[in-house]
Amino acid sequence: MRFSKFFIHTLKETPRDVALKSHEYLIRAGLISQSGSGIYSFLPLGKIVLQKISDITKYHMDKAGANEVLLGCITPASLWRESGRYERYGKELLRLKDRKDNDFVFGPTHEETITDLTKNYIKSYKQLPIHLYQIQTKFRDEIRPRFGLMRAREFIMKDGYSFHSSYESLKEEFDKMEQIYSDIFRDLGLDFRVVEADSGAIGGSGSKEFMVLANSGEDTICVCDSCSYGANLEIATRKPKAPNSQAPEANFAKFHTPNTKTIESLCEFFKIDSYWTIKAVVKKALFDNEVSEYVFFFLRGSDSLNETKALNATGANELCDVSEEEISKLGLFAGFIGPYALRNITNSKHIYFDNELNGAKNMICGANELDYHFVGVDLNLFEDLEFKDLLEVKEGNVCPRCDGGKLYFTKGIEVGHIFQLGDKYSKAMSATFLDENGKTKPYIMGCYGIGISRLIAAIIEQHHDEVGIKWTKNTAPFMVDIIISNIKDENQRNIGEDLYSKLLELGVECIVDDRNERFGAKIADFELVGFPYAIIVGKGAIEGKVELVCRENLQKQEYELSKIDNLLHEVKKCL
Ligand code: ATP
Ligand code: MG
Repeated sequence: MRFSKFFIHTLKETPRDVALKSHEYLIRAGLISQSGSGIYSFLPLGKIVLQKISDITKYHMDKAGANEVLLGCITPASLWRESGRYERYGKELLRLKDRKDNDFVFGPTHEETITDLTKNYIKSYKQLPIHLYQIQTKFRDEIRPRFGLMRAREFIMKDGYSFHSSYESLKEEFDKMEQIYSDIFRDLGLDFRVVEADSGAIGGSGSKEFMVLANSGEDTICVCDSCSYGANLEIATRKPKAPNSQAPEANFAKFHTPNTKTIESLCEFFKIDSYWTIKAVVKKALFDNEVSEYVFFFLRGSDSLNETKALNATGANELCDVSEEEISKLGLFAGFIGPYALRNITNSKHIYFDNELNGAKNMICGANELDYHFVGVDLNLFEDLEFKDLLEVKEGNVCPRCDGGKLYFTKGIEVGHIFQLGDKYSKAMSATFLDENGKTKPYIMGCYGIGISRLIAAIIEQHHDEVGIKWTKNTAPFMVDIIISNIKDENQRNIGEDLYSKLLELGVECIVDDRNERFGAKIADFELVGFPYAIIVGKGAIEGKVELVCRENLQKQEYELSKIDNLLHEVKKCL
C-alpha cells in the first residue's frame, strides 16, 4: 500500500469528549469516524484491523468444528415474543415496523433467530451436536454509548450457538470454547483472564467472561492471589467471614438507641463490631409491565450489597434507590429497619437475607420503631427466611476455592462471554428433537460471544503509549512503514521503492510513505498509527544507510544497504 493512495486522515489534536486513550487514538489515527451517537464507520485502516481480528476468530472457530452462517440482522418480533424477550429486554432493544405495520427488532443478539432456524433442520439426536456462528453487526440502544468502540450502539460481534442432546455434551463444548477463546485472545496478543460471570439478560446458568486486563476497564474482577479463581465482582464469592470479636451476648430485648441511624453510630453505641449488626437496604424493583415493588435486603453490617446480586435475587428488571420519605410512607424508619413484622408492615413478598446471615445469633437489628433496636436476635427462630448470595466481596477476603488465598481486584474489559443456556430458548420456542428412545426433548443450548469491534479498543487500551498505538504482531494493519524522508530526493525514492518491492516479495505487509510531506509529520503518523516497524530512508541514504525503528521502544538501529538482507531478515523474523 502507498500512503499517497491511502484514505488516511490523522489528527494532531485530541478530539473533545474523549475519555479513553483507545477512543482518542482510534479517531486521531484515522481508524474510525463517528456518524451518530454510538455509531461508527470503519475507515480503511480500521477495516484492516477489524478483518484481522475476524480472521483469527474465524480460523479458531472453524478449527473447533463450528460452521459460519450469516443471519438476517433484522428479526421478526414474533420470534422474540415466543421467547418472551420482546417485553423483557427493555429499551436497549431497537424495535422497528415495516410498511405493513409488522413488528421487527434489530438483533442485539440472535438466540431466537438461530433457534428458529435450527428447529427446521435438526429433528434427531443423531444430528447433534452442532455449532453455528456468525460475525455480524448488532445494535443495542445503550443508555450511555461512550468510549468509542468500547460501548457503542452499533457494534460487531461474533456470536455462536451450539445445540446438544445432553448437558454433558453442552459442558464439553463449553469447555472447548473456553480453550478456543483463550487461543483467540492469545493470538491477538492480549493479556486476559477468564472469570466466572453473571448471565444477565441472555439467561441460563454457568457463564464465563474473558477480560482483557486494563486499568480503564469498566468491569471489576476479583482474583485470588494464590489460585486460578477469578470472578466478575457481580458474582464473586468468598469463604464466609469468621467473627473477629466476641459475640455481644444478650437476652432478646428492645433497646432505646437514639441517634443510631448508621451502622457506625450503632456500633459506637453498643461498642461492638459491625459483624454483629444487621443492615437493611431498601430498593424499589421494577418488574415486567411496569409493576414496581419495594424490596428488602438484610446483610451483616460489615458487608455491603452488590447491585447485580440484589437484582438477580428479586428477578426484577431494574432496582432503584429509595428516599427516606418513601421509607416513612411505608411505615418504616430509615436506620431502624429490621426483619421483625416487616412482612406485616409492608406486605412485601421480597425480603431477602444474605447467605452469611444463615444461622446468625447474638445479632442487633432495627426494631421498625423510631430510635429502637433489638438485641440478642437469633435468626434461627424465624421461619421461612429466604437466603441469597447478596454481599459484595472486598479485597483481602478469603478465596472461596483454595485454602487461604486472598482476593484482590483488578480492572477488565469484557471481550468475550460464553454461556450454558440449557433449554431456556428451545423450550420456549418448541425447538425439539427425538432422543434415542424416540422421546421429544428441547435442545440443550450454549451461546458464545466475542466483541469483535470492542477488541480493537481493548487491544489499544493494553498496547499504547503517550504518542500512539502499538499494535500487536497479529493485529497490525501493516508490519512495516517505509518512510521516504524527502520524496523529491531521487536516491531516497529509489531506495524506498526498492525496499518496498523486496518486502512485498517476502510477503511482509508494508506501506510506503511516499507523500510529499515533512519528515516530522511522517514519523508522527508512524508513532500514532503504531506500525510495529519503520524503515527510515533519510539523510543516511547518500552513504548507503537506512534506519530501522521499532515502535515498541522507539529504538533505532542503523543498517548498511549493502547488508540489507540482514535487515529484511530481522523484519521477517518478527512476523
Ligand atoms: P457489557 O456487560 O459490556 O454491556 P454484555 O454482557 O451485555 O456486555 P454480551 O451480551 O455478553 O455483552 O455480548 C457479547 C460481547 O459483545 C461482550 O462480551 C462484549 O465484548 C461485546 N459487546 C456487548 N455490548 C457491546 C457494546 N455496546 N459495544 C461494543 N461491544 C459490545
Ligand atoms: Mg456479557
